[in-house]
Amino acid sequence: MSPVTHFLTGWILANSASLSRRVRALVTLAGVVPDIDGLGIVAEYLTRNSRHPLEWFSAYHHSLHSLPFAVVVTAATFALATQRWKTASLPFLSFHIHLLEDLVGSRGPDRYQWPIPYLMPFSRACELTWHGQWMLNAWPNFAIAISLLLLTFLSCVEARAFSTGDGLA
Ligand SMILES: [Zn+2]
Repeated sequence: MSPVTHFLTGWILANSASLSRRVRALVTLAGVVPDIDGLGIVAEYLTRNSRHPLEWFSAYHHSLHSLPFAVVVTAATFALATQRWKTASLPFLSFHIHLLEDLVGSRGPDRYQWPIPYLMPFSRACELTWHGQWMLNAWPNFAIAISLLLLTFLSCVEARAFSTGDGLA
């Protein structure tokens, strides 16, 4: 799914519990950070017509969508946060919701499924795919993104009403 969908999912998860601003940011970030392995798309796009094209996106996208990287992200957020037990579980969950979203709705335009190498770099034995995976631009992704936007909007309205006292009437 798109980074925007991952961001909104992480943000909503982060706001589902009473967390400090810093922990909310870390939980949200954990829901987006697996896609840093897709930044090679910039180099790949810029060099696509050169004599030595860099295929960093094709080669490395999804290489950090793995359990070892989830553990690294969780350990880093644990070290940075104050509410440590919530911080130990929620970024791990946020990271894995990202993997689930990719698993169900990230089939490329060439119909390639981008398997999730869950145990990389230690093993290629567990590459996750789902035969029912829909395309990146399929309607369920739009429905999910719009639902997440509505939830975000409603939670902002609710938080504003509560902070101004309107929610207490
Ligand atoms: Zn991803």
